Amino acid sequence: RADIFEKITKQPIGFFTNERKGDLISRVTNDVQEVENSVVNTLTVVFRDPATIIIYFGVLFVLSWKLTLITLVILPASGAIIASITKRLKKQSNEGQQSLGNILSIMDETISGLRVMLAFNARNYVSAKFNKENDRYAKILKSMTNRRELASPLSEVMGVSVVAVVLWVGGNMVFNGDMKASEFMFYIVSFYQILVPAKAISSSFSSIQRGLASAVRIFEVIDIEVAIKDSEKPTQLTNFEKEISFSNVSFSYGHEDVLKNINLTIPKGKMIALVGPSGGGKSTLADLIPRFYDVTEGAIKIDGINLKDYSMESLRSIMGIVTQESILFNDTIFSNIAFGKPNATEEEVIYAAKIANAHDFIMQTEEGYQTNIGDRGTKLSGGQRQRISIARAVLKNPQILILDEATSALDSESERLVQEALTNLMKNRTSIVIAHRLSTIQHADEIIVLRKGEIEERGTHNSLIEKGGLYKKLHGHALALS
Ligand code: ADP
Repeated sequence: RADIFEKITKQPIGFFTNERKGDLISRVTNDVQEVENSVVNTLTVVFRDPATIIIYFGVLFVLSWKLTLITLVILPASGAIIASITKRLKKQSNEGQQSLGNILSIMDETISGLRVMLAFNARNYVSAKFNKENDRYAKILKSMTNRRELASPLSEVMGVSVVAVVLWVGGNMVFNGDMKASEFMFYIVSFYQILVPAKAISSSFSSIQRGLASAVRIFEVIDIEVAIKDSEKPTQLTNFEKEISFSNVSFSYGHEDVLKNINLTIPKGKMIALVGPSGGGKSTLADLIPRFYDVTEGAIKIDGINLKDYSMESLRSIMGIVTQESILFNDTIFSNIAFGKPNATEEEVIYAAKIANAHDFIMQTEEGYQTNIGDRGTKLSGGQRQRISIARAVLKNPQILILDEATSALDSESERLVQEALTNLMKNRTSIVIAHRLSTIQHADEIIVLRKGEIEERGTHNSLIEKGGLYKKLHGHALALS
């Protein structure tokens, strides 16, 4: 379980599609348990039963090697029939686990998107999706149970048939005088002693197979190559001194280039704004700096050293990221702010909250900094959530700040507080701001206008307005909206 969890934390963002998510959840919940059961079952059988079987087989051989050879042929044959059933069971168990994973994933999706689902009257859509998967699961489960139940009477019948054959052959041998009747009685009793442990072993085979199927699925996850990792001898980035530079950077998520041939220098202490139509590549460009993704072509360097040569931990330790959706955890306000700095003192947290304009509203909550903010921060307003995540960034005190400005409309008082908090946060830092509203970035040192992955224009606010290109158009549009 821990290995799977570790794997999750190492994957690039966007790696887990819903299907993968469902798959993973099923693995963590069921497959691991299946493997545990299988190991426990098998261990008991392996240590207890083979000894019994070997001893009794020795006795049988001494009594009549002919008869024993015959049983040695028919026992495995009946075993093979049972095995063919369990093989199919294994395949179905795979499908079943996957289907269960999908069900859990749909539930998770539904619960976290309940607000939107209700607002769009989309209950039918979600229910239909759920029911379809649920029916599939029920079908698989039913067929699996049928097969499993069938396997047990079938193995009884096989057992009885084997005994019948032994009785018939042995009986004939007694009549022919090949064996004494008393020996034959003894033989039958000894033979019966073998059947019980043999059955236990054969049923443990099916348990082993199920366990193996689960183990294979678990290893599939554990073996996924981590796409982004440290180089062999990573350099520690302790202090950012001069500049971040992009040279001929191109990036693609798969087929098409989302960023094409970007050249950009971000000097220390400056503020760079990324603007442009949605889908232009702003967020992608920002994601490349903390190495959430690696460039496809070209290089990004900090102080002349390629990002790939720094240790990822040290690289990310000098960066702070504030995104549109404030990621909060079901924990106290204090822990949510101290998230990036586990040993933060109370004074530091309060100081950060004050700079982020969050202290006042925190003090008004029932338990102040110890208030639990609920799952994903549902007990707070949008502006409050943002200010908490700003406080988190203030506390981390990063040298480089990546800011994805909020698009969601806040009421004007809340917006003023958030904006003020952001201004405080950006003071004396190098910042890359993804701007959705152009009003806040007019004083940026350089504005980069990205369209379809290319830099269409760049310059200061005034020079871009003067130029009368896309920026001016966007700006005019923004004015008209506000
Ligand atoms: P912006 O921030 O300017 O709106 P993005 O960087 O989010 O633009 O997106 C640029 C392009 O990359 C879009 O066409 C988007 O569909 C695509 N894209 C973004 N994220 C992913 C992803 N994880 N996988 C595949 N394509 C993506």
